[in-house]
This record gives sequence, structure tokens and C-alpha cells, in this order.
Amino acid sequence: MNESTTREMICILCPLGCKMQVSEKPGQPEDLKVRGIQCKEGKKYAYEEYKNPTRILTSTVAIHNTTLPRLPVKTSKPLPKGLIYKAMDEINKVEITGPIKVGTVIIENLLGTDIDIVATRSLG
Ligand code: SF4
Repeated sequence: MNESTTREMICILCPLGCKMQVSEKPGQPEDLKVRGIQCKEGKKYAYEEYKNPTRILTSTVAIHNTTLPRLPVKTSKPLPKGLIYKAMDEINKVEITGPIKVGTVIIENLLGTDIDIVATRSLG
């Protein structure tokens, strides 16, 4: 019996957008069988996306004393997908006062991940 499930994914590293089929090799959970890719980078992407998918999270935080009521922010590095809802809870708690310069750290070491939330524009 083959209990390994195959996940369909699309490689987003280049415009070819190869359709990948990724599954664990029976008895070798660390090793993956990757079909449908056309290059080594695609294989690396398949491993990352299967084992620990991450995303750059973008959002806004409440800001006072500026021309706009919300400041656009993003994570300084890709965040594990499983932490996105918790990260949003943290971001939604924040209220800051302007002016703010682009790149300012708004939340340091978000959820102990060593990833910061930073301003993506200046606002005064
Ligand atoms: S597998 Fe390689 S060729 Fe295919 S989309 Fe990814 S980077 Fe492009």
C-alpha cells in the first residue's frame, strides 16, 4: 500500500510556471519525489514549499498624527505559512504615532522568529 500523498504545486520561480507533483518516498520522509520540474532551482523550491512553506506577509498598522490612518508594513523575511494568522493578531494590536520613515522596524522579532515587521513607506 502506498500511503504517500502527492501534492500538486506550481513553481513560481520563473515565467514557465512548471506544474510539479511532489510526494514523499515511502520509508524516506526526508526525501521527496519531484516530477514536472525543468531545473535544479525548481527542485529546491519544491522541497521548501513542501517541507516549510513561507510567505512574505504584507499588511497595515494603525498610525496616528499622519496624513493616512494606516501604515503599510511587511515582514523583513518570509514567514512560515503556519504563523500567518498569529502574526496578523500581533500586527492588529499595534498602534503607532508618526512620522515614520520607510524601513523602520514596527515589531521586532515577531513571535520569536527573528523576523521583523517593517514600514514599507514613509508617512508624515
Ligand atoms: S522548475 Fe525551473 S523552469 Fe520550471 S518554473 Fe521552476 S524555475 Fe522555471
